[in-house]
Amino acid sequence: MAKIEDYAAVTGQPVIDDLRRISEKLAGKNVRHVNSTAVGGGVAEILNRMVPLLNELGVESQWDVIKGGEEFFNVTKKFHNAIHGSHEKLTRRDFDLFMETGRANMASMKLDGDIIYIHDPQPIVLVEKKQQNKWIWRCHIDASNPQQDVWEFLMQFIMKFDAAVFSAPSFTGQMAIRQFLIAPSIDPLSEKNRELSAEEMDSVMRKYSIPEDKPLVTQISRFDRLKDPLGVIEAYKKVKKNVDCRLLLAGGGASDDPEGAQVLAEVQEMAKNDPDIIVLLMPHDEVAVNAIQRRSTVIVQKSLKEGFGLTVSEALWKGKPVVASAVGGIPLQVAHKYSGMLCHSIDGAAFAIKQLLSNPAYARKLGENGREHVRNNFLITRHLKEYILLFLSLYHNEDVVSL
Ligand code: UDP
Repeated sequence: MAKIEDYAAVTGQPVIDDLRRISEKLAGKNVRHVNSTAVGGGVAEILNRMVPLLNELGVESQWDVIKGGEEFFNVTKKFHNAIHGSHEKLTRRDFDLFMETGRANMASMKLDGDIIYIHDPQPIVLVEKKQQNKWIWRCHIDASNPQQDVWEFLMQFIMKFDAAVFSAPSFTGQMAIRQFLIAPSIDPLSEKNRELSAEEMDSVMRKYSIPEDKPLVTQISRFDRLKDPLGVIEAYKKVKKNVDCRLLLAGGGASDDPEGAQVLAEVQEMAKNDPDIIVLLMPHDEVAVNAIQRRSTVIVQKSLKEGFGLTVSEALWKGKPVVASAVGGIPLQVAHKYSGMLCHSIDGAAFAIKQLLSNPAYARKLGENGREHVRNNFLITRHLKEYILLFLSLYHNEDVVSL
């Protein structure tokens, strides 16, 4: 695993020196992150690298995962969709189950660190155990238009935190606790994003039987309706009428996402008569994601709702032209016709994919711009700095920390 000093090659030495300087001010404090899955999805992706790097910087950090049964995760998936604004019917029993599982976790978990950092709604009930320590709630979801009953229910817990963190300005709302804006990030030196040799990429393409004789249009995502895999197939079909290409829909599951199997079945059904659509259920395999992104001609992220969309930054970092929906945190990453193409519909996605497949020089320019945009804004070094400043600010009354 890369060490903090290794990042100087990507960001320049001053960024690393700064990180060391500010993290010294947290000496003696420890941070405990809590979320609901160790693998799959953007939150686990970030914690996987954030926690070891914080430790290396001397900010003692742990990461715990709550336990829950299938029924609990069915409820939390409904919460997730409801916060994203799709209408979900929640029963009294759903809310009771959410509370019961939260309290069972509360009884079995150690929550006595200096800073407890709760990610997303699943573990939010744990805040009932708050004592004199500091608690942060990190919302990774687009909460700009949440379903009211769910949001009001969650608000009784959110109010108990010392601070809430959101990814984009539009996700924040009126609340009596301090709010911070911190965008997610990718790790340029992780297995998912590091440079790969041609042999490594060849071997992944062979392993997953992905032919390379046609331009490859790829979306890598959990099989989730909000990622709109069926919409991607429709867009591809429109493109295919004019430009020959192959579509790859690749994704694995997350243990806190029970809807995956059904969505995958719908995708397979829609893809079955076209040999140029590859639907790949992947195990957790970071190098494979890396290689597939690098070998793709165009990367698509046609989400209907999105918290941030790490897959977009991952693709841009690899210099890839991206077509992505203008939802959630995606417009922070893609400036239309500068660092990728934004779309608002299936037709828009098809038009943009066609344009990029037909104009490789333009596609390359967008990818290059995208890589620099990610270098300046969405690398883990910036994220570490903002987290450390956030932790420090909890011990100050003002928002500005004097260094
Ligand atoms: N991912 C993966 N394998 C898969 C599907 C997704 O490793 O089969 C990763 C993807 O590369 C990204 C993360 O999971 O790092 C998904 O994060 P994103 O913010 O795009 O979406 P989320 O799943 O959190 O809604």
